[in-house]
Amino acid sequence: MAKTTKNNTIKLNFDTKYAPAPESKASAKIDAKYDLFINGKFEKPSSKKYFDTINPATEEKLSEVADANAADVDKAVKAARTAYDKTWGKMPAKERAKYIYRIARMIQERAREFSVIETLDGGKPIRESRDVDVPLVANHFFYYAGWADKLEYAFPNKKIAPLGVAGQIIPWNFPLLMAAWKIAPALATGNTVVLKPAETTPLTALKLAEIIQESDLPPGVVNIITGAGATGAAIVNHPDINKIAFTGSTNVGKIIQKAVAGTDKKVTLELGGKAANIIFDDAPLDQAVEGIINGIFFNQGHVCCAGSRLFVQESVYDTVLRKLKDRLESLIVGDPLDKNTDIGAINSKEQMDNIVKYLKIGEKEGLDMYQSSCPIPKKGFFIRPTLFTNVAQSSRLAQEEIFGPVLTIQTFRTDDEVIEKANNTPFGLSAGVWTDKGSKIFNLTTKLRAGVIWANTYNKFDPTSPFGGYKESGYGREGGLHGLGAYLNL
Ligand code: NAP
Ligand code: MG
Repeated sequence: MAKTTKNNTIKLNFDTKYAPAPESKASAKIDAKYDLFINGKFEKPSSKKYFDTINPATEEKLSEVADANAADVDKAVKAARTAYDKTWGKMPAKERAKYIYRIARMIQERAREFSVIETLDGGKPIRESRDVDVPLVANHFFYYAGWADKLEYAFPNKKIAPLGVAGQIIPWNFPLLMAAWKIAPALATGNTVVLKPAETTPLTALKLAEIIQESDLPPGVVNIITGAGATGAAIVNHPDINKIAFTGSTNVGKIIQKAVAGTDKKVTLELGGKAANIIFDDAPLDQAVEGIINGIFFNQGHVCCAGSRLFVQESVYDTVLRKLKDRLESLIVGDPLDKNTDIGAINSKEQMDNIVKYLKIGEKEGLDMYQSSCPIPKKGFFIRPTLFTNVAQSSRLAQEEIFGPVLTIQTFRTDDEVIEKANNTPFGLSAGVWTDKGSKIFNLTTKLRAGVIWANTYNKFDPTSPFGGYKESGYGREGGLHGLGAYLNL
């Protein structure tokens, strides 16, 4: 509600309460138990073991899923190899494309169900899973379906061949979207797949397995197996896999790099980030503040390219800080299924403990902490959006990936100073620049060592544009033509 004060300025009052607007769970059909999707069928794991997946917003069990061991991985790889040799590898590209289009359309038809399950299993606000994740998933399948029979135009004058069997391992922050980023280009280029979703968010990948089964995709072309880190390691170490595509932490990325050294497996690694979001004094400040908020609090900061370090030009620092604090107070933290919610649940207890650890490190380092005063639910894993000021370049909070709704704020005076500060981390995944001047955008985008740089916007994704990092943020690109090349022998 807005109030007009004596001197005629508008004062915003953020007490406005919205009535609850929860999305219905009726569309979300979740089985009590899921087996492994191998060779077109759901099969019991030879480990005979299952583990629970919970809703992080309520801590309630949603389902239990199979824990694949090395024998199960071997079965899945064999199915993928047979499918590659006997059907998929030989199929004319335009026939392959039809299956990928079919999968894209089926995802669109069941978009609501996918969104609700993504939100239940992972904790992200329904607004995001409904408006960002699931539409992008369908777009990825449509986009790569379009390329399947045009590969010779994508790579003119090159002899092209698929790699064979791809082992794909994905994290919990964009479960279905990461599955789409991996599966769609692999299928379009004629490879077959063994995919493992993260332990805490396996459900949408298993629902995708149901769609793949209904789409009549030949058995074994896509195999989806669940499990923890050991299952991922068994995929990485399997001798009959030709390519590893991994998205996850830099630590596990390093383990994978060591494991494949000396083999002829191809690898792409999409790892962590510590993005700088930079506001110049000539930027449209309200738009920039909105972009900063979106850049770090979107998906609870569980975003590899989250704008977790804010740099503000000194002359506008006070104004930006005041606007940020005001906006922070208006954010709604809580039930991820509620359409009003801006910040949902932290994905797991483990991740919440990790974020809290960093809040304590910040306090110990003597940084100034500012948190929103919003209420948070008693049950489930929630953290108030948090700002830190008075941050030194050497602070652990400015150097290490926190992967939560925590923003550090620093100041700068000149272009050169902010470029040096922004580049001074082990990561290089993404960055953001807010300014009115095209010349400044050009100067910074050419000097910042980051794979993706947004100007006057943030966290925008599109299947046609490549995504990937520099330095410890990994190597190889996903999306666009680059994403196709990563699954081909050229
Ligand atoms: P993670 O711990 O590295 O896990 C990623 C995946 O690897 C999970 O499926 C995990 O299984 C599996 N895994 C664990 N140990 C393994 C091993 N030794 N060998 C093979 N696989 C193994 O990462 P996370 O915590 O799930 O995800 C967050 C990280 O992902 C962040 O660092 C974020 O920046 C990064 N990320 C990067 C991008 C990008 O495009 N650059 C995109 C999204 C996320 P379990 O789940 O069972 O442990
Ligand atoms: Mg879960």
